[in-house]
Amino acid sequence: SDGNPVADCLFCRIVAKEIPAEVVRETDTTLAFRDIHPQAPTHVLVVPKAHYPNAAALAVGDPVQAAAVLAEAGEVAAQEKIAESGYRMIFNTGEGAGQTVFHAHVHVLGGKGSLHGAL
Ligand code: 5GP
Ligand code: ZN
Repeated sequence: SDGNPVADCLFCRIVAKEIPAEVVRETDTTLAFRDIHPQAPTHVLVVPKAHYPNAAALAVGDPVQAAAVLAEAGEVAAQEKIAESGYRMIFNTGEGAGQTVFHAHVHVLGGKGSLHGAL
């Protein structure tokens, strides 16, 4: 993708505020919002506002924005007070790995008792 919005993309629609989400942070190029089905006490998704189908494609297409997504994941962790205890950043890439939304996103997962044993 060239980063242009994709009309039928769920996360493009959330970025465009056409679909509501619980936003926790926003910058010019990124949006962080709570996952609708949280898998941990803190479960936030950080997305680039521009459309790329997955994180690797984002890194190739716009490395500065890829770095901004990672930096925002760290800011979310600090804001959510999970930076100290530790947190996970997960990028599911491809259907076979469980990716269901094909707009680049990182899962930021943390909080009590939720992180050990999954991988
Ligand atoms: P994936 O499996 O593609 O890595 O992650 C997609 C995530 O998006 C899932 O964890 C899912 O719960 C979340 N999700 C799906 N639809 C919505 C929605 O409409 N709003 C929000 N906030 N999260 C969603
Ligand atoms: Zn999109």
